Amino acid sequence: MGDYAFATPPIISLMSMSTKPFPVRRIYCVGQNYREHAVEMGGNPEADPPFFFMKPASAILQNGETMPYPPGTRDLQHEVELVVAMAMGGKNIPPEHVNDMIFGYAVGLDMTKRDVQHAAKKKGRPWEMAKAFDHSAPCSSITPEMYSGVVAKGAIQCKVNGTLRQSADVGDMIWGVPQIVHYLSQLVEVCAGDLIFTGTPAGVGPVVKGDKIEATIAGLETLSIKIG
Ligand code: MN
Repeated sequence: MGDYAFATPPIISLMSMSTKPFPVRRIYCVGQNYREHAVEMGGNPEADPPFFFMKPASAILQNGETMPYPPGTRDLQHEVELVVAMAMGGKNIPPEHVNDMIFGYAVGLDMTKRDVQHAAKKKGRPWEMAKAFDHSAPCSSITPEMYSGVVAKGAIQCKVNGTLRQSADVGDMIWGVPQIVHYLSQLVEVCAGDLIFTGTPAGVGPVVKGDKIEATIAGLETLSIKIG
């Protein structure tokens, strides 16, 4: 018998080239961080500072795996996003210190039950069941910042069955990574191991069982998953 009433949950981790696996602590996500996507979601991109929601670390789906089509939706959608992996944390982090605290970058998919999200928005209810369900955070391995450099621009794309659905540049983000981490660290203490999904560009859309999603960001490992 161990020290707890039952076996403790496993550490969720992501591979990172030539270093030890990155242990995932929490997953923060930014909403509406590209102008055209904010408009397609009915938001006003100029009005507000960044806003955040979360997924549990257990929502990670490893690169190459099949994501089971989740229950309770008829409108599962893809959102390709730059993922920032934190090597250090803190409160009230100045924007100019953020890049020195980053472990690396990955390509993520903020998989979303859009019908559930729309219903929640309409009733002013929380988003978790639309955003934070099992396998809702497919993520590539992490490219350490020492190899990628600071990722502040570069093509970001999402293809479904080979057809281009989303195509933009990371430099189009309304709030850049330093600003995002700065804002977040004023609300919560950011910790080593935290992942931050930085928002998706326009072109989000539905996927169905059997679809193959390929998500890319220039200089990072391509994320390929299937919907099963
Ligand atoms: Mn998103």
